[in-house]
Amino acid sequence: MIPKPIPCPIYINGEWRVLSDVATSPVYNPSTGDVIAETPLGTARHVNEAVQSAAAAFPAWRETPAVERARIFFRFRQLVEQNFDKLCQTVTREHGKTAAEARGSVYRGIENIEYACGIPSLLMGETLENLARGVDCETHHQPLGVCVGITPFNFPVMVPLWMFPTAIACGNTFVLKPSEKVPLSAILLGELLERAGLPKGVFNIVHGARECVDALLTHPQVRAISFVGSSPIAKYIYETGTRHGKRVQANGGAKNYIVIMPDADMNKTVENLATAAFGCAGERCMAGSTAMPVGRAAERLLPPLIEAARKIKVGPTDRAAQPDMGPVITAAHRERVLSLVSSGENEGAKVVCDGRGVKIAEAPNGFYVGATVVDNVQANMTLAREEVFGPVLNVMRMEDLDQAIAQANKSSYGNGASIFTNSGMAAREFKHRVKAGMVGINVGVPATMAMFAFTGWDDSFYGDLHIQGTEGVKFYTQQKVVSTRWFSEGVGDVWKK
Ligand code: NAD
Repeated sequence: MIPKPIPCPIYINGEWRVLSDVATSPVYNPSTGDVIAETPLGTARHVNEAVQSAAAAFPAWRETPAVERARIFFRFRQLVEQNFDKLCQTVTREHGKTAAEARGSVYRGIENIEYACGIPSLLMGETLENLARGVDCETHHQPLGVCVGITPFNFPVMVPLWMFPTAIACGNTFVLKPSEKVPLSAILLGELLERAGLPKGVFNIVHGARECVDALLTHPQVRAISFVGSSPIAKYIYETGTRHGKRVQANGGAKNYIVIMPDADMNKTVENLATAAFGCAGERCMAGSTAMPVGRAAERLLPPLIEAARKIKVGPTDRAAQPDMGPVITAAHRERVLSLVSSGENEGAKVVCDGRGVKIAEAPNGFYVGATVVDNVQANMTLAREEVFGPVLNVMRMEDLDQAIAQANKSSYGNGASIFTNSGMAAREFKHRVKAGMVGINVGVPATMAMFAFTGWDDSFYGDLHIQGTEGVKFYTQQKVVSTRWFSEGVGDVWKK
């Protein structure tokens, strides 16, 4: 018997509350297609309650010394470690990642908590003595107030952890609106934060979709918004948030190019390319979605690449025997991925490894797409331009490196780009000229870790200060410059001149 879907509580002012009077959205186990939970679609009223709770908690939290705030994150880190398996299983259940992918993503999240533990050092300012005669100058980094995080479905633990540990450690209070497709991991993180001793109201969770997001974007007490999701929504969030006077950092979608030079180590390249394209079923903003073999690299690359793609075993991830690749997030998303592949085929591209017809006997209702490789993709095809967000690798054959860089640079996105080569000169040329914020040299997924900013460009990012690293700390703080001068009146004889 399929268990009844779990209702997902919101978390406001330290209280978990199930909403019974709102519409809901189903949460699936993508491996089986079963509905496992119901996300309540919160309204402006719930957003207002959450923001009021965060605003009320702010004055005391702002005054809490940075070392004490950091200590809560040391405890939180320990609790996340102790509950590591439970978190990974939750990610797998509601998202469909394999056990290994879930583990990797939770580790990336833990690194963000560790980064936030260093907040006392990260918040230190600068000083200049005797800026003018008898005047000293110093900077302080102070929190903003209520900050908001709006997150996508594809990394249910990692992406929220990109945001709230740094925001809260900086002295802000926070409202998280996780993706309605994957609310369970966020709830678990909230429970662990509570157990770590975070005071009531400092962290809040609301669930919902457009109405909820709009209420967050326009609420007068919200000071800053961090968003990760698709580009059209990222643009909307940036425009609406900034129009309402908020600081916004909004990460969008991507189309990432991987150039393969004829001198590349082909075994290693194929291994890395397959992971970049098919890891997490292609549902990551740093997926290597387009291979660009240069000149005769194509003849060496394609046969082993197709063989590697054909060997990738797709199947359910929620049981002991693990496949190489799991399902995509929903049935609707699977249909979109399949139709994009078919559109490429109809426009003249050649599907050389076809994952469209995959059937999984033990999980017939899961949302599966097999690893797919499409050769002879041309720049004007929909498949070449749109983010597929599935296990589909386009191959665009290039005559030389110049053509490959020029083609990659035509993309409206600018998240990641990689080159596989043994030539230092080709690598240097590529890293210097390619229009992307994160570049890999013999690295297929050059996603940055917690201590570096996640530096998307163009339609992959709207804003000024990126998520993670010192840019993240700057985003969540405002700088104050204090100039000090003291007069001698009344000082007495503490010193003689
Ligand atoms: P999405 O844009 O559909 O949703 C993201 C968030 O926005 C969710 O919380 C959702 O509830 C909300 N939302 C959706 N539609 C909305 C609307 N019309 N108005 C207001 N809010 C709305 O993205 P997704 O499908 O959950 O995630 C996949 C996308 O995220 C891909 O495009 C991927 O590239 C991108 N992504 C980017 C990064 C990055 O760092 N650049 C990282 C992970 C994912």
